[in-house]
Amino acid sequence: MHEMSVALAVVDQVAEAATRAGDVTAVRSVRLQVGELAGVVPDALAFSFELACAGTLLEGAELVTEAVPGRARCTTCAHEWAVGMPPRLTCPGCGGTRTDLLAGRELQIVDVHWEDGGPAHPPTREPISEER
Ligand SMILES: [Zn+2]
Repeated sequence: MHEMSVALAVVDQVAEAATRAGDVTAVRSVRLQVGELAGVVPDALAFSFELACAGTLLEGAELVTEAVPGRARCTTCAHEWAVGMPPRLTCPGCGGTRTDLLAGRELQIVDVHWEDGGPAHPPTREPISEER
């Protein structure tokens, strides 16, 4: 199942970033850009994500998916159009089939919200100097 491998990859990536960040105690939400042509079914992904999160730092985290519509451009006449679903990859302007996909294959984490130690840990950062 494609969605499961995507979900596992997302969980891996976030867990690794959280470990690197240090005292992250829980991940609240993950925002993911999903292109219309990425071949991922949002519902199936949400389900897989929940399973993939179980027993990790991400347990209970919310997956927020941001759909990115597919767009293509004709290399012959430079016409641009929304490819839609199922994708239309033949130019509606000239009927050409040489097209560049401009958007719609995205599959990437754009934002992660997590909680770190919070007030229990005194800040260890240096005070921000206002001198320039
Ligand atoms: Zn065209």
